[in-house]
Amino acid sequence: MPTTTRALSVPSAGAPFEAVDLERRDLRDDDVRIDVAFAGICHSDIHTVRDEWGAAHYPIVTGHEIAGTVSAVGDGVTKYKVGDRVGVGCLVDSCTECENCKNGQEMFCSNGSVGTYNSQNYDGEWAAGGYSQQIVVTERMVLRIPDGIELDEAAPLLCAGITTYSPLRRWGAGPGKKVAVVGVGGLGHMAVKLAAAMGAEVSTLSRSSAKADDAKALGSSNHIATSDDDAMKAAKGSFDLIINTVSADLDMETYVRLLRPNGALVNVGLPPNKLSVNPGALIGGNKVLTGSNIGGIGETQEMLDFCAEHGLGATIETLDASDTTTIDAAYDEVVAGKVRYRYVIDTSTIPA
Ligand code: NAP
Ligand code: ZN
Repeated sequence: MPTTTRALSVPSAGAPFEAVDLERRDLRDDDVRIDVAFAGICHSDIHTVRDEWGAAHYPIVTGHEIAGTVSAVGDGVTKYKVGDRVGVGCLVDSCTECENCKNGQEMFCSNGSVGTYNSQNYDGEWAAGGYSQQIVVTERMVLRIPDGIELDEAAPLLCAGITTYSPLRRWGAGPGKKVAVVGVGGLGHMAVKLAAAMGAEVSTLSRSSAKADDAKALGSSNHIATSDDDAMKAAKGSFDLIINTVSADLDMETYVRLLRPNGALVNVGLPPNKLSVNPGALIGGNKVLTGSNIGGIGETQEMLDFCAEHGLGATIETLDASDTTTIDAAYDEVVAGKVRYRYVIDTSTIPA
């Protein structure tokens, strides 16, 4: 029997959240039912429900930073049992058979991976995300949350954590490397914590000095206000790796200039507009301008284990959803750069 759960849903672009009943499918053999405890608010949720990327399919239940406990398992489930602490990120299915799935890069599934929301399951049903009290997901896409991390601080790791961990690892963040993080928000604050834990020397670049003290506490040894022309000039040619997490348009050349020769600028921010770079800005110094998309399931588990080992979780503010306008207001605050540093919805407060 399918189950009915409560969820926060947006009926159309720009409309406020409303609490609704949501049907979750009956457990298939490989399915895990999760009682969701917390769901983080990622800026991608906001881009999606506001239809900034186009192709939004309403109604939408967003949320791909999900943490909770297993409440039921299908007959064939072997990895999880009732009571286990688990998480779900941006993916709820992939074909398992293509080269990319076999290489642990399920997000690049050649047959189309299934996103946690605004995406159709292989049976045609629209996926609905984590702003809800239950979710049903194949065990292959479920992550184990180590005991050392509280569920509320773990939730944002499922997107903000993996999206920054993956490029930091790939581009060699570690001792002797100077890493800059642009934008100290949900992704940015995790990038700082992770890069510092990997042993890199971390700088933060933010629009102002308002987050300077926080950035230091997160692990940044050098906070630069990008509005400070002298500080930006002084930083020219100084970083091995820059992770750009900014959710809005940015002049890429300004940041490419901050790279050392052979350095890499990895863009993870996803504003809807095109980036523009003069080829000369890359050629002078053999610079790399690249992107990075979340991370595979295996690497996401590796990131969670790394966080547990280093005592890391997200820095969060918990939201009570009993008045759903709180969530609408939280979206505005994220866009205004006011969140410190990730909002997490306590899903038990979604109104009955
Ligand atoms: P967030 O919490 O809102 O953080 C974004 C940060 O960007 C802000 O804290 C702010 O930092 C800076 N910023 C915002 N508006 C700006 C503006 N107009 N000019 C300059 N800087 C500005 O967002 P998030 O959840 O970290 O997500 C960041 C971006 O990554 C979004 O576009 C999201 O869709 C994308 N994303 C991508 C992936 C992926 O797989 N690549 C995964 C998840 C999210 P300061 O206040 O420090 O300046
Ligand atoms: Zn996200």
